[in-house]
Amino acid sequence: MNELPEVETMRSVLSRDLVGRQVKLATITVGKLVKPHKSAKEFRTALEGHAIKEAQRLGRNLIFLLDNGHRLVLNPGSGQILMAATAKVTKPKFTQLVISFDKVGELRLVDPKGDARAFVAKAPAEGEGEEISKFARLSVGGDGLALRKTISELADVGIDAIEDQIGWDRFAAVMRSRTTPLVEVLTDERIFTGLGDIYADEILFSAGLHPNRSAEGLTTIEIRRLHRSFLEIVADAIKHEGTAFEDAPWTDPYGKSGSYQKFIQVYKREGLPCSQCRAPITRVSTKTHDTYFCEKCQA
Ligand SMILES: [Zn+2]
Repeated sequence: MNELPEVETMRSVLSRDLVGRQVKLATITVGKLVKPHKSAKEFRTALEGHAIKEAQRLGRNLIFLLDNGHRLVLNPGSGQILMAATAKVTKPKFTQLVISFDKVGELRLVDPKGDARAFVAKAPAEGEGEEISKFARLSVGGDGLALRKTISELADVGIDAIEDQIGWDRFAAVMRSRTTPLVEVLTDERIFTGLGDIYADEILFSAGLHPNRSAEGLTTIEIRRLHRSFLEIVADAIKHEGTAFEDAPWTDPYGKSGSYQKFIQVYKREGLPCSQCRAPITRVSTKTHDTYFCEKCQA
């Protein structure tokens, strides 16, 4: 699954190879992929002939700053972004977008479920810009706020653990404003972006907090613990280049698998012994997700 650590891994790998490269050609198979544009042609015209100056990211969105000041935004959804050395390499089924470059072959967006999107965002005129996420607005630094102001389609992206700087006190303000269970707060994209079920469960285990605790009821010490775990788990998952399970494989654009699954403590470990207390890990299912935790370690 493409959560924050996986998309950050893509960004880091693609930054190495694509910065300085010029887009030759963009080919779109399914028009709705580039829906913010009136037509596929409009998307292509905005992109072709321009060089990539920088690779950025916000939440699950890869962002490439172009030499004309516009930004190419790729959100792979549940799909895959792959690099191919030449156009001759067989395209996987559901390859819906191909962007070819000078010298480095081509980038392919594979989108079997049709939930990916791609668009070119123009730099907004002076004074323009959307009302940005009320949660992300609490950030005191990082590139996140500037990206939300520049790309109106991303104005609503929640707090990004890497691109927004949010101290424990402001993190506490977010928690104290929510009456919902912790796991729902962490997996709400409007509040925190790119954590998903895996990282939310791991953060809560690391912080020793029961997923069904109400966010507003946490003590100051618990909030500080949760804040620390939030930053540590995301940083660790990036260090190990994302998580890949047998039934949910994940690779970077060159086919290299992530390895954070080796460090997973609770997610999908129902019935297996907890690494801290040996009690079996519990799973609780709701309509929207399965939550894994240790009943003994998570109060
Ligand atoms: Zn335990």
